[in-house]
Amino acid sequence: MKAVIIEEFGAPVQLREVEPQPVSPCEVRIEVGASGICHSDYSIASGQYPAMTIPLVLGHEGAGRVIEVGSAVRRVAPGDRVICTFVPACGICWQCLSGRSHLCETNGKVEKPKLMYDGRLIAALSGLGTMAPLMTVHETNVVKVETDLPDEQLALIGCGITTGVGSALWTARVEPGASVAIFGCGGVGLAVLQGARIAGAAELIAVDPFASKREMALAMGATHAIDPTAEDPVARIREITRGRGAEYTFEVISTPATMRQTYDAACNGGTATMVGSLSPSLELALPANGIHLTGKRLLGSAYGSAQVQRDMPRLVALAEAGRLDVGSMVSRRISLGEVNEAFDAMKRGEVVRSVITSF
Ligand SMILES: [Zn+2]
Ligand SMILES: [Zn+2]
Repeated sequence: MKAVIIEEFGAPVQLREVEPQPVSPCEVRIEVGASGICHSDYSIASGQYPAMTIPLVLGHEGAGRVIEVGSAVRRVAPGDRVICTFVPACGICWQCLSGRSHLCETNGKVEKPKLMYDGRLIAALSGLGTMAPLMTVHETNVVKVETDLPDEQLALIGCGITTGVGSALWTARVEPGASVAIFGCGGVGLAVLQGARIAGAAELIAVDPFASKREMALAMGATHAIDPTAEDPVARIREITRGRGAEYTFEVISTPATMRQTYDAACNGGTATMVGSLSPSLELALPANGIHLTGKRLLGSAYGSAQVQRDMPRLVALAEAGRLDVGSMVSRRISLGEVNEAFDAMKRGEVVRSVITSF
């Protein structure tokens, strides 16, 4: 089969012939139905995390159907529809038992080389590798869902939707009537916005340099949209919130500068949540004295603090009920060979999500 592979950081990704390996006792073979193109895929391919071992099969936002299970698998059976989770939820480690499966201690430890490529075994991103027609993953990396939603929507729940909606609902715990500001309205940012809307936020302020994304944010329930290239977003957010700042702010752009703006735009006692994924070499500068005086809370959002086995089915239910709009986030349907073009479209701000639906 052909899979999308990173052969060299910073170079275009390649469509190459790979051979899946036999399913081991705790593994599940999945026929991939759809794979989203997430910004993290581009960041990894472009070399933002140079410690990662390449060649590597790309893709971490996917959904499909189980076609084979190992002898010890108990969670799913052939025929089940599943969403892949890029953080496993083992259910028995200290973090999982503490109600934090998004920080499962087996993360990174259940991965192993999975595909034969060019005479050697290579790994797949996050133990998944959704940019291929078939995936062989550990059973703790799948969540069974019972639904008729199309795979292209389920795939987005694998990363962008869960990360974004979860940041509002389960990391920051936005309250009804609250004011919310979101820096960045790509796939994850729009999902944060929808999460805050579902939570009942009153003021929903979207910040994005692309007019198309601001329009989409307004269509999805934003009450205000700010172009940060035309005005100071922090000053404008304070103006909208009667000089105070927003009660909940979110950073989904992934730069230290916008992280600082996100902190500054929160009101005293407010909550600033960092969702964006940055290069490990970057640091964030904050006013040291202001931290205790302002009483602000600074939170990190890992996978939207979602307990995937419980929460992914809930997100599916919200989508089925029409309260979470996943369909509008699918901007383009592409084939496996069009990932580089999809990266370019993403960089130009043309798409919320391109989704591979043709393998
Ligand atoms: Zn992602
Ligand atoms: Zn665990």
